[in-house]
Amino acid sequence: MNLSIIENLPHILEGIKDIAKLAGLEILKYYSPDTADTTEMGITYKENQSPLTKADTAANEIITPYLRKIFPTHAILSEEEKDNLSRLDNNLCWIVDPLDGTKEFIKKNGEFTVNIALSLNHKIILGVIYAPILDELYYAAKNFGCYLESSSGVEKLQVSSNTKDLVLVSSRSHKSEKLLKLIDSHQDRIKSDISKGSSLKGCLIARGDADIYYRFGYTMEWDTAAMQCIVEEARGIFRQMDDSEMLYNRENSLNEKGFYILNSTHNALHSLSENNLNWHHGQITRQDRLQVINNKNFALWFTGLSGSGKSTIAAQLEQELFNRGKLVYRLDGDNIRHGLNADLGFSVTDREENLRRIIEVARLFQDAGVITLISFISPFRKSRDLARQRLDQGKFFEIYVKASLDTCKERDPKGMYKKALAGEIRDFTGIDAIYEESINPELILDTDKYDLTSSVQLIINMLEKLVLL
Ligand code: ADP
Repeated sequence: MNLSIIENLPHILEGIKDIAKLAGLEILKYYSPDTADTTEMGITYKENQSPLTKADTAANEIITPYLRKIFPTHAILSEEEKDNLSRLDNNLCWIVDPLDGTKEFIKKNGEFTVNIALSLNHKIILGVIYAPILDELYYAAKNFGCYLESSSGVEKLQVSSNTKDLVLVSSRSHKSEKLLKLIDSHQDRIKSDISKGSSLKGCLIARGDADIYYRFGYTMEWDTAAMQCIVEEARGIFRQMDDSEMLYNRENSLNEKGFYILNSTHNALHSLSENNLNWHHGQITRQDRLQVINNKNFALWFTGLSGSGKSTIAAQLEQELFNRGKLVYRLDGDNIRHGLNADLGFSVTDREENLRRIIEVARLFQDAGVITLISFISPFRKSRDLARQRLDQGKFFEIYVKASLDTCKERDPKGMYKKALAGEIRDFTGIDAIYEESINPELILDTDKYDLTSSVQLIINMLEKLVLL
């Protein structure tokens, strides 16, 4: 992983936001909203019969020279440029749709956007969508979150937590037979069906104003790239129709499988399959179980160096929650390694597998309706992000239990630092193995500063504020 680019994303984002706005202003030069006349747009048609306007080309001429100048070593895939397949040899590729929703542009309904995204090793790590007429600028970067900048200021976005009365968003211009059938067979779950042009559909879900979007037909990489980053950073789910991950900077830029966007996996209208295995649903739902045990359930993921206080805090919190009559269970790193994960060591691969299994166990606990406290060093952001993806959106809280390495060495509750420093054990996090700090946790508990009681209270405060207790 190219760490320097990831760390630099917030900075890169600033320039991309500006250039998306400039491209938006350029587009508006070809757009007079008060007349039905479209001659100034200079409409022509491409080989595939999709319309092209002077505005598409003009916006591209603002964006791509900027990208070439600022990022001379990166590749570019733009809807309005001849594809240069040497991009396949580049792990960094900008994916640009200078004017997404050309049909909406021609119809003058304001629902067109400028889309710019960056892929690293085929995964999207940055996305910007600008809707010039609405003056809405959506932007997101990997592990940085998703934001909307508009005339009312800047707002951090998160998908809704709706699980019923769902709002479905669909395309203004493309509604397939399959989609109509799907809607028809889920009338009981869908409250309303709204239409939106261009990538604004994904933005609507990111801001919590819609819950689901299914797209069966073909799209191109530049239609989905920025939207995917925005949805995922707002904690939504973006998958191809066969539930696999959408990858970018591919030889064939056609998104052949279709895709869907959800606020939560619970709201999937199709049956989610993993490697063609279907989940067998019984008669009893999680809601039924929650009623029996009178719980509102959630998962707290404690991450931090060994000795930072994860287990101590989780155990004290477990006691507090139990005293309040809650069914709560702790999954603790050391405990799980005694049984389920006894076959795993501490290499990077084994640590990842350790976490993958824990995440799946936590998922089952969550489904059982139990409040789950998961305390693992979990040194890699990738694994913690996987946990966030796999566990319930909006009910997963990453708590970074932070203490300086010196403090942890001094506490050394299990004598591990002593052994690691003496070379008796290897790959010990903080000594000879890396810990990637949490970038965007829901809560940071600095145990150099807060004692045990205050830390537990801070968690309780957060949960109470969210009406989870
Ligand atoms: P971890 O689970 O992160 O490896 P542990 O909870 O096992 O860490 O150990 C943390 C040690 O630090 C315990 O011995 C605990 O008593 C001590 N400690 C000192 N101050 C704090 C604090 N503010 N919060 C949590 N633990 C603390």
